[in-house]
Amino acid sequence: MLWHYWEEEETCLIKQIDLRKIQNVDIQQLKPSRVGRISDPYIIKHMIVKTLKTTATLLSFLIMTSCGESAGDFTSKELSLIHSTDSIMRVLTIDNPADSFVLRDVSTNLSAEALLSEDFAKLSDLMTATVTHPSQDGVGIAGPQVGLNRRVVAVQRFDKEGEPFEVYPNISIVWTSDSLAYGPEGCLSVPGRRGEVLRSQEIVIEYDKISESVETVRDTISGFTAVIFQHEIDHLDGVLYIDRL
Ligand SMILES: [Zn+2]
Repeated sequence: MLWHYWEEEETCLIKQIDLRKIQNVDIQQLKPSRVGRISDPYIIKHMIVKTLKTTATLLSFLIMTSCGESAGDFTSKELSLIHSTDSIMRVLTIDNPADSFVLRDVSTNLSAEALLSEDFAKLSDLMTATVTHPSQDGVGIAGPQVGLNRRVVAVQRFDKEGEPFEVYPNISIVWTSDSLAYGPEGCLSVPGRRGEVLRSQEIVIEYDKISESVETVRDTISGFTAVIFQHEIDHLDGVLYIDRL
């Protein structure tokens, strides 16, 4: 048995040739290139070169595809995370080195297109379900805490009737009062600890409000709810409340 090897339109072709069927044929006349055993260094060398070329082409394609994504769109990794569950998300903690890397990173905004997607709607539901779950029982949660370095937080509005949880994407603080006060804080990502943190009594937040379109709006928040917003927005800059103790 021999291996028939040749190149054709950038493709490496190898097939077995049954010598019993070609006994009366000059095998060298059968192919455009050459015939050899699979251990032939020439064949092995070309198989390696072709494999490397194919790999390089694939990598180039992946890099171009990656670069083609808008920075504000969900990455495939983020989409996988969002659609990996229908219940709650795992909360990252600083005692896990890999989690800590995400918690300490700076988060980025999402595009209007991403905010209007079902993916974001699901992320909002998951974040709310996670922070309100009996296993967490928190009053706020930020994107990095569920593994996404995106500027989105879910906060319980103690200053509103019914104290609902609301989700705020692309959020930042644009003004803080000079009036400060210490208050006790804990964090779902820092298990087993609490501390007194100095925070502004009143703040103005800016975020993207989602209806049929996306509109950037501002809101003035005061009291304990303002403290929650400051704590959660800190997360988006990789800051934890323990940094302020
Ligand atoms: Zn926290």
